[in-house]
Amino acid sequence: MPDPCAFCGSTEPLTREHVFGQWVSKIGLDLSPVQHGAGPLNGMPRDMGEQPPFRQTVKSFCASCNNGWMSRLEVAAQRVLTPLILGGSATIAPADQAVIAAWIQKTALTAMLISSKEQRESGYGLSPVEYRALYELREMMQPLDASRFWVGRYEGPAGFWAVRVTPLSVRLPGIAEPDLPQCYLMTIILGGLALQGLRFTTPALEIEMTSELGMPQLWPSRVPVSVPAGQPCTRASFLRFADGKLLQSGVEHVELRPWTHAAELPQSTIVGGKVRVPTLCGKHFFYYPVALLEQAFRGRFYVFMTACECQTAYLIQTEPDGAHCKAAGAADDIGHIYENVPGDEFLIQDETGEFVCKEVVTR
Ligand SMILES: [Zn+2]
Ligand SMILES: [Zn+2]
Ligand SMILES: [Zn+2]
Repeated sequence: MPDPCAFCGSTEPLTREHVFGQWVSKIGLDLSPVQHGAGPLNGMPRDMGEQPPFRQTVKSFCASCNNGWMSRLEVAAQRVLTPLILGGSATIAPADQAVIAAWIQKTALTAMLISSKEQRESGYGLSPVEYRALYELREMMQPLDASRFWVGRYEGPAGFWAVRVTPLSVRLPGIAEPDLPQCYLMTIILGGLALQGLRFTTPALEIEMTSELGMPQLWPSRVPVSVPAGQPCTRASFLRFADGKLLQSGVEHVELRPWTHAAELPQSTIVGGKVRVPTLCGKHFFYYPVALLEQAFRGRFYVFMTACECQTAYLIQTEPDGAHCKAAGAADDIGHIYENVPGDEFLIQDETGEFVCKEVVTR
């Protein structure tokens, strides 16, 4: 049986759709291949190689969705967002705000389908309910309930694009992390444009959030929104931005944090005096000193870089329940992120050799 359309459920033949509408490749943005990533939640991005940007497609939607409401969202996005993608300024009128927020939601849902079917079946990606709910709103051209969106500027390498979805949980002091995330953060970078949307899948937990960068709220809003305003997201702050760490809770003592279990590493074992952990590629292992695990039990956490034979570098942080992968990618990029982690570097020497890491500064 063929797969049904991810949005409407129809079993008509599926058609190919670009993660970003074709218009993005025709507006004069630098098209040189760049490292990009669309990842299943905050897990390991699927290797897409050095493809020219904007060529990524998914085959998950029927022709009537593709050519109908999805295409109308692209037309609106092209008209409203083109000057911002090219680094200019614009004012987004109230009449356009809902449709742009709906486009962000649609683009994030589309990009998540890049992950393989197996990854999605093992729990990665977004729930089919989210796709269906957006489809139900197609005539209104409006984003999902219990969501809010921001629009800002990105300053970094030309032609960079990224779509990331990070599941977040609402954390209260002294309360353990819930078993499931209660919201997810969508981040889209396209040229000079940075867009973010936060959707609470548990609407009762919706809390007021503001952008620490001072990015204006696009939705809900009743006033014209002028962009750029506030601070840009940069290459150095991108991962913190995409993890929701630059969002500020409006409720005292309550915060949103990346849902750690989405980046959970599989079972580790102790081998030859070191902790052996499978890497996210699923084929290799990395090792770290047992001393770091002992420190983690005492509440002291460390961050370090490692790599596997796939040429993938990883940024790993120890947490109360073990090591978690915080980022994966090219060695240069991961090295850059590691350098930007605040704190002093430590050299751990034991019978197994030397190991370099930084202690995580808790504020
Ligand atoms: Zn459809
Ligand atoms: Zn955990
Ligand atoms: Zn590997």
